[in-house]
Amino acid sequence: MRMTARPVMVPGIALAIGALLQVNVGGQAAAGGGQNAGPAPGETLSESYRGSQRDNVEYQKIPPIKVFDNLYYVGPGFVSVWLIPTADGLILVDTAQEPYVDHVIDSIRKAGFDPKNIKYILLTHGHLDHFGGASKIQALSGARVATLEEDWQLIDATYKAPANPNRDRALGPVLKRDMVIKEGDAVTLGKTSLKVYKLPGHTPGSPSFEFTVYDGGTPHKAFIFGGPGQRNGVEGGTQFLASINRLMREQQDVEVPVHVHSWLTTYPYPGGGIIERAQKLAQRKPGDVHPFVDNATWRAWLKIAQAGTLKYLEDEKAKAAR
Ligand SMILES: [Zn+2]
Repeated sequence: MRMTARPVMVPGIALAIGALLQVNVGGQAAAGGGQNAGPAPGETLSESYRGSQRDNVEYQKIPPIKVFDNLYYVGPGFVSVWLIPTADGLILVDTAQEPYVDHVIDSIRKAGFDPKNIKYILLTHGHLDHFGGASKIQALSGARVATLEEDWQLIDATYKAPANPNRDRALGPVLKRDMVIKEGDAVTLGKTSLKVYKLPGHTPGSPSFEFTVYDGGTPHKAFIFGGPGQRNGVEGGTQFLASINRLMREQQDVEVPVHVHSWLTTYPYPGGGIIERAQKLAQRKPGDVHPFVDNATWRAWLKIAQAGTLKYLEDEKAKAAR
């Protein structure tokens, strides 16, 4: 199946999947002017969503992107929400947070799917930018919401924490603990199966998912690394290093790294973020390689992350010894 000719608008840039890239120089912005903004000097487009344009709500509302036959980007610009359609319903990976949840629901519809058909919402970790929309989308769809025990604990703690106006604005209705997945499980819907890994370090859980994407029917090994940047000092750094080392041992053959943010701030991804690759995809000609199929930069990224984590651990240990 080839890409449909659905036009995909990215702020400042009009993407027509399967057609030529057009650069929209000014003008055409919706009221409010948010979409007229762009990256700051020295910033890439993907980076701008987590950098200078982080709080620009209209700028963040990018249209859905069909990346593979069975993988769509339906998030705002700064945090990924991935839609995996199957013969028996939809799987959503992460949900973004308010005020973007209606945009996510809208993007699912614009991509041609009914959000009521979501059967599973898989959460890559218990941070609000990933789970904040889960309760709203669950209420709409009746989907099961799943993550690891460690990340459920983080989610529970978020709702129990003292009031914080900044955070609470992004907090949807309470997400109740639902399905607990664990390392080695498979989440299966239709013929699609996602194998669950626990790769801690960003959080104590950080479920990650291995599955197959199809490009015009051709299968590729895809992998969602749930927490692709270390946190929490020596303990988190040590866990993260072990996770990276494990990926280097077991997952050298990943062809499609499926990122949880369009731009990874801790270890920026070589070869561009999601938006840059989407632009390349829009310009792709028959016979060209798919710009998201890129085993070489996955392996390069693992090396960057490993070296960065060793340095992080050194610094954290020095701090702890002071
Ligand atoms: Zn996080």
